[in-house]
Amino acid sequence: MLKIASALLAVGLTFLMSGCAESEDTDFVLYPPKDHYLQYWMYPNDAAISDSVDANLARGVILEVHPNATYTLSFDADTVAGAPKMHLFRIGKNKQGSSFVHPVRLLEASLEEGRYVYRFLCEENDAAEWAVTLEKGKDFYKGSTKNVRLTGDGAYSDHLSLNLVLVGNVAQKLDGFTEEELATAMLANFRKFYTGIVIDTLYVNHAENHPVVGDHYPANQPWVAGRSDDDTMMQSLGGGWPGAENALDLVLTHYIDEEGLMGYSYLFSGNLGRGEASTVVLGAHVKTANGSLSNSMNDIIETAVHESGHFLGLRHTSSTTADLYVIGDYSVVEDGFTDTPYCKGLLSSGLVKEKSSSGSDMKIRHGHRGLYGKVMLSTAGLFDINTCPDVDNLMFPVETETEYAGLTPQQQEMVRKTLMIYPH
Ligand SMILES: [Zn+2]
Repeated sequence: MLKIASALLAVGLTFLMSGCAESEDTDFVLYPPKDHYLQYWMYPNDAAISDSVDANLARGVILEVHPNATYTLSFDADTVAGAPKMHLFRIGKNKQGSSFVHPVRLLEASLEEGRYVYRFLCEENDAAEWAVTLEKGKDFYKGSTKNVRLTGDGAYSDHLSLNLVLVGNVAQKLDGFTEEELATAMLANFRKFYTGIVIDTLYVNHAENHPVVGDHYPANQPWVAGRSDDDTMMQSLGGGWPGAENALDLVLTHYIDEEGLMGYSYLFSGNLGRGEASTVVLGAHVKTANGSLSNSMNDIIETAVHESGHFLGLRHTSSTTADLYVIGDYSVVEDGFTDTPYCKGLLSSGLVKEKSSSGSDMKIRHGHRGLYGKVMLSTAGLFDINTCPDVDNLMFPVETETEYAGLTPQQQEMVRKTLMIYPH
């Protein structure tokens, strides 16, 4: 579990402390136990059921919050135990790099339709992690906390622009299409899939022209994400592009230094400005055991649209063991949406068991070109991935030859709500 917690911490966003919410004067603060509070996370509007959050809410769960959004945390009322008070904390890091929690709020519950409900506004200047504990009689709440939900309503628009950033000599290495054709088709596909938001435009930039870090990315060399330098997420190219300051940065590298990996992004912790979690990383090629293979234009676009779904709050329709490792909560086996089917056999098949060393999402190329084909046959037995009812959903975790259907209404709504929470 600690391994998982630290992987998630590496994903953690920066903390800007100035102008943060004032803490209220309280006589008593119920801090989360130090060995406990970093284990389980909640994300705004996430529909997935988490037994771990339900079981651990009272003693400390982390909430991912974004500036100026209003949040509601609620759970089924235990009227025998009565309503607890909710303590809210900001999680920060001191100069030595160790974590601390600082109290920001003490909230009383209201009882609404059989649930205890707590509402608060996040007055941070940047994305942050907060923690929650529940108190009754100056001790951790012992009542039940079932079906915990965190909803968030953002203060920002439902419009999004894209910024395709080509790194190194990747434009010369595209196999059978030009960067202009890629950009045009990329924009068309984002508009086709993300109908619940407005995709304004797609900018095209080249890494060597970045006003601050351009010199770091020579235009005549291939760039391998995770090998050419330590910036696996290419976050130095996230943000800071004149005219595209609030766009989602789609960074196209030569390939990603991990076999079979076509792209990656972080789930939920999106950032449309600079810094951590501000990019979706893509490869024009994919690493193999013997070298690399080129991705088709369609491969690259589908990967971009899928990874951006994670950036905008979408989980895989069916979890893989890799997902459970990354998220660190083994009870979350599907996305929680009632209008996306779930492939029960996928997890137990062991088909997708590799994890990404970056701790982020992975999208595995699979099928006609044979990547992981042998792994599938030896570990999955007779399991046929094409029988999964969600195989045609954009957020299915494995690349197949099945053509994607559109996102479901609940997926579209999740994307829209998440986008409006991200400052832009
Ligand atoms: Zn994915």
